[in-house]
Amino acid sequence: MTLCAETGPICTAYSNDQTIVASVCVSIDRAIGTRSVLAPCGTCQERLALWGPDVDVGVADPADPAAWSSRKLRELIPFYWAAASQVDSAWPAVSDHEW
Ligand SMILES: [Zn+2]
Repeated sequence: MTLCAETGPICTAYSNDQTIVASVCVSIDRAIGTRSVLAPCGTCQERLALWGPDVDVGVADPADPAAWSSRKLRELIPFYWAAASQVDSAWPAVSDHEW
């Protein structure tokens, strides 16, 4: 596992007690002149889950890699593991993630 582009901004937001409401990772290959939006990897999805299921994340359009759209984090993680630890099976609150 390497550090994804989102890692720094996520850590900065967390350290400064800021809320992340959206995340879009744009990958640019200057050699061939392409640009694409990358959905957050599983680890970054887990990191973003701290701010709840309504965080908007950019995902590539499967029909056109140069196009993208926004999805809610809950759409990427429909069976979020931490919900199982909640009495009502709801997505854990930010305070439930803090130790
Ligand atoms: Zn990642």
